[in-house]
Amino acid sequence: MSIAENLAHVRSALPASVTLVAVSKTRPSADIREAMAAGQVDFGENYAQELRDKAAEIEGARWHFIGSLQRNKVKYVVGRATLVHDVDSIELAEEIGKRSAVPTGILVGVNFGEAQKSGVPAAEALGFAKRVVSVPGVALRGLMCIPPPSEEPEAAAPYFAELAGIAAAGRDQGLPLHELSMGMSHDWAVAVRHGSTIVRVGTAIFGARPAKLT
Ligand SMILES: *Cc1c(COP(=O)(O)O)cnc(C)c1O
Repeated sequence: MSIAENLAHVRSALPASVTLVAVSKTRPSADIREAMAAGQVDFGENYAQELRDKAAEIEGARWHFIGSLQRNKVKYVVGRATLVHDVDSIELAEEIGKRSAVPTGILVGVNFGEAQKSGVPAAEALGFAKRVVSVPGVALRGLMCIPPPSEEPEAAAPYFAELAGIAAAGRDQGLPLHELSMGMSHDWAVAVRHGSTIVRVGTAIFGARPAKLT
């Protein structure tokens, strides 16, 4: 299957209101251009310098930073990423804010276990969101998570439901938690059923990633 066919397949089952982020980490620019030729706009990167380099090379794409971001790499991401998905410390939010000429959109990364090394524990997510919402230079937009890995997509359902519940509780308290970044190649359909507004899909679009060399 080609990248265009894979994209068409995912899009055909995705409500128009859900943003499809094509996760292009480790992929060559040619793959990104191929996806763009098929109408794809949003791309997700995990490595700050890789995002910087691809953003310089490829015009017209909208970039999402979906990895865990070290403070000393914020400079590569701000001004290039439309959304930073996995903010989990006030210090990181402040660094993003300090470098942002216009507010940078952020999501609070919520940690449900070992799959996500980053993220704030679910029980602390709303308390953290209340603090981060007043950090200058960032615009809080929602929450993201990576559930613990499982062969069975449905196993992610309780985590997606919990994330949606946390966001709803936050909105009741006036927090702007409108975006839910949840769902990857194997479980995006489950995530959408639970209210995902942004799915991050890599393998199902671009094929298997080469094994990490490190
Ligand atoms: C790599 C990655 C994805 C995409 O994973 P696939 O299983 O290839 O769809 C999504 N989200 C994050 C945070 C990732 O690191």
